Amino acid sequence: AAKAAGSQLMIYTAELDESADAAAQLGADLRHSLDDGDFRVVYQPIVELTTTRFEAVEALVRWHHPVRGFVSPVDFIPVAEDNGLIVELGEFVMRTSCHKFAGWRRDLGAAAPSYISVNVSARQLREPEFPDVVAAILAECGLEPAALLVEVTETALFGGGTAVHAVETLHRTGVRIALDDFGTGHSSLGLLRTVPVDVLKVDKSFVDEIIAGGGRAVIVDALIHVSKGLGLRAVAEGVETAEQAAYLRELGYEYAQGYFFGKPVPEPDFTPRALVVDQA
Ligand code: C2E
Ligand code: CA
Ligand code: CA
Ligand code: CA
Repeated sequence: AAKAAGSQLMIYTAELDESADAAAQLGADLRHSLDDGDFRVVYQPIVELTTTRFEAVEALVRWHHPVRGFVSPVDFIPVAEDNGLIVELGEFVMRTSCHKFAGWRRDLGAAAPSYISVNVSARQLREPEFPDVVAAILAECGLEPAALLVEVTETALFGGGTAVHAVETLHRTGVRIALDDFGTGHSSLGLLRTVPVDVLKVDKSFVDEIIAGGGRAVIVDALIHVSKGLGLRAVAEGVETAEQAAYLRELGYEYAQGYFFGKPVPEPDFTPRALVVDQA
């Protein structure tokens, strides 16, 4: 790899990508890209299954790397968590998406989604100022706390401590909490007794078990009962086919998200549509 003097440009080689330095390199690039404004936020609809109305949107960060182009969050979020830049990046995503959401409300009124869902990592939750930062962003956008839903993973909350405390503080102010990738982490069910949770996001891996002509998808079936029994809202993630959507609705799921309904895009189209979920 060569570094152009006085510039942040890096020349990538296959060897560098595979080297032990790759993560450090990516971390340094993250820093530059935060300063240069190379991050964007895209929004994926969360749909009410019975009406196919866009109930909410999830904000997902995108990095347009100056040399590599698209880099998946799966690759750079862990690096940003390790080097701490997730705090600044996460605040950017929170501010950008709350402003965006407030704009939709102004422009679309009743046709706007009811809330914005934002991913937050453990590292952010452990920052003592985090609840204050969230409150300040909501105030600057003129949003009530219930307009925001914070998605955290079970793993982020495993072991209790500051992260759980932050979630409790946010929840007390009226911000709602979702457990993301539900069922894939540690102590899923135990957490529901100790952490204030409003929404369970049922992981795509369980939705994937709903296959054409297949038998019962046991886990999505069990998790709708868990959600309902505890008075929580369930959102099925990663719905890719009409058959999956119909099956979930049949089981009693009210909300779902996935490429079948819409991919993450910079400007979702919220005009009402008729998606026929019964035609598999
Ligand atoms: P996640 O929070 O579970 O987000 C869902 C991921 O699944 C997104 O990938 C989304 O584009 C993708 N997806 C949605 N529907 C479908 C589908 O029907 N099929 C398939 N195959 N995929 C689908 P994305 O945007 O690449 O994000 C990956 C992960 O990176 C996220 O998983 C989340 O853990 C993390 N992430 C993304 N943005 C942020 C962020 O702003 N902050 C934090 N802390 N993490 C983020
Ligand atoms: Ca999520
Ligand atoms: Ca998820
Ligand atoms: Ca995931």
